[in-house]
Amino acid sequence: MTDTTDVALPPLMAIRARIARAAGLAGRDAAAVNLIAISKTRDEAHIVPLIDQGQRLFGENRVQEAHAKWPALTERYRDVRLHLVGQLQSNKAEDAVRLFDAIHSLDRPSLLGALARAMDRTGRRVPLFVQINIGEEAQKGGCALAAVPALLAEARAADLPLAGLMAVPPAGVEAAPYFALLRKIAADNGLDGLSMGMSDDFETAVMLGATHIRVGSALFGPRGDQPSALPSP
Ligand SMILES: *Cc1c(COP(=O)(O)O)cnc(C)c1O
Repeated sequence: MTDTTDVALPPLMAIRARIARAAGLAGRDAAAVNLIAISKTRDEAHIVPLIDQGQRLFGENRVQEAHAKWPALTERYRDVRLHLVGQLQSNKAEDAVRLFDAIHSLDRPSLLGALARAMDRTGRRVPLFVQINIGEEAQKGGCALAAVPALLAEARAADLPLAGLMAVPPAGVEAAPYFALLRKIAADNGLDGLSMGMSDDFETAVMLGATHIRVGSALFGPRGDQPSALPSP
């Protein structure tokens, strides 16, 4: 275990307890909820204590940042898994397929060919979540609601491994209706995975069926207001 005596431990246990309570209220098995620790902008000094506490699933939103940060860590901690939760450019598809164990940001048909080629070349079949612009917001990433059936059909035609749907609801309003809508679209399309819920709303997401919740600041503290890096032990 890393010496963390001078550092407040990230509240992983508290988050796990809240997941268990929310799952229990909904009659769900908490083990069906995958907690993705979103470690974007955090460095090893923040990440390793979480690994030491048993967290094995992490998420990053930029391929380049993940590439700089994770290979050294996954070399040391072989059972750590990494998910991409940010926008993916076609020219980074192969890097992403090599680096990540799931991709939550398939949002347009033009990515399909790049991902299919990358999976062929690497021999890796990386589960994909189709990201939906669930609130139909102008600035927001994700596939438009009306374009979802066609994107899913094209992904299936290309024999890509579809894991489910992902969304980030509009900020500042109740997220539950958007989570419920995402769940309905997934059910209508025969998809099991639901990547939804972040620090402020993961309990609601768990109650509404999330299989993957993406939690950053509730685990690591607010971004841009992090403790300074720890000296090496
Ligand atoms: C940063 C990020 C999160 C985590 O957000 P928090 O509010 O810090 O929990 C979740 N999902 C995506 C796509 C993100 O970019």
